[in-house]
Amino acid sequence: MPFAELQHDLDERAAQGLLRRRHVLESAQGANVTVGGQPYLSFCSNDYLGLASHPQLVAALRQGAQQWGVGAGASHLVSGHFAPHHQIEAQLADFAGKPAALLFSSGYLANLGAVQALAGRGDTIFADKLNHASLNDAMLLARANVRRYRHNDTAHLAQLLAQAQSGRKLVITDAVFSMDGDLAPLPQLLALCEQHDAWLLADDAHGFGVLGEQGRGSLFHFKSPRLIYMATLGKAAGVSGAFVAAEQAVIDTLVNHARSYVYTTASPPALSVALLQSLQLIRQGDGLRAHLRGLIEKLRAGLAGLPWKLMPSDTAVQPLIVGGNKETVMLSAGLRARGIWAPAIRPPTVPQGTARLRISLSAAHSAEDVAQLAGMLHDLAR
Ligand SMILES: *Cc1c(COP(=O)(O)O)cnc(C)c1O
Repeated sequence: MPFAELQHDLDERAAQGLLRRRHVLESAQGANVTVGGQPYLSFCSNDYLGLASHPQLVAALRQGAQQWGVGAGASHLVSGHFAPHHQIEAQLADFAGKPAALLFSSGYLANLGAVQALAGRGDTIFADKLNHASLNDAMLLARANVRRYRHNDTAHLAQLLAQAQSGRKLVITDAVFSMDGDLAPLPQLLALCEQHDAWLLADDAHGFGVLGEQGRGSLFHFKSPRLIYMATLGKAAGVSGAFVAAEQAVIDTLVNHARSYVYTTASPPALSVALLQSLQLIRQGDGLRAHLRGLIEKLRAGLAGLPWKLMPSDTAVQPLIVGGNKETVMLSAGLRARGIWAPAIRPPTVPQGTARLRISLSAAHSAEDVAQLAGMLHDLAR
């Protein structure tokens, strides 16, 4: 029976402490959430600016639904491309400092589509070993040659680029690594791309809205046409979706060839109405970003002296490396018993032996929230 086989695999995963399950939220996203009837102080979301439940976004979505209905009804290339979609694309291009932008329904789909449309058989993709799963999956879909370089190791990348023969070259990287919180060496990567006539696709899922002037992301200073900027809109932007911003010819290529764009129903136009409002809050969000930076410093100071290693990260993603899977799950459970929710991240999401608590901060947190988390972790360490 195939069911028995599936169950056997699940039982094995459970025995290794690797079985994944979902937690049902009974409240809106925020610093304080309800799960299973219990209130928790949450350090789990990527809602870095606390916009996911912002009243102005809720109002924009409601107004958008009133004007445009609920469903797009078709793909963008048939009859599902609405004025709000078009408007948010123009604003995102301008915000990212690029000639054009294309809206996707999610970051996963944006990466699948962009990589597959820009590289194919005979081309070579160069990828950081710690890239997000969506970029890894995209490489498989593209059917190009794949060369993976050691995490942030530009010398290794240079070596691989020099070995590449004919065909297009595409370097792909997280701009802020999603499980480590560290940054890619973007100036060096871009210089290598110039030198080797390659494209650089940078995934700024965790930088957009948070880093850079007005939250324009990790790459706003880099004006190279070789740079293809991708960011998601379900994290700091608080809504849903993603976009790619690049030269017009790149965007037109995606419209024609990105299968995850062409063969899927457009996102509801009301979401784009909410995104227009979100972009305005991001532009005006220097206060939120300053508060978030303060919380990051406070957390890092508060976690000094713990037996677990806090990774060097200046971003809202603050990983505390515990090591073993079961130990990490126990630490997460210990916090949960004390009303704090911080997720245990285990292999294969991260390398073996580096299971961790992925603490993520949001401008929705207060300094007291962060102090409470630090205090509990010190208690649990004893
Ligand atoms: C979250 C994430 C994605 C996927 O974006 P979704 O909109 O959630 O599908 C892609 N890349 C990185 C680095 C991410 O963290």
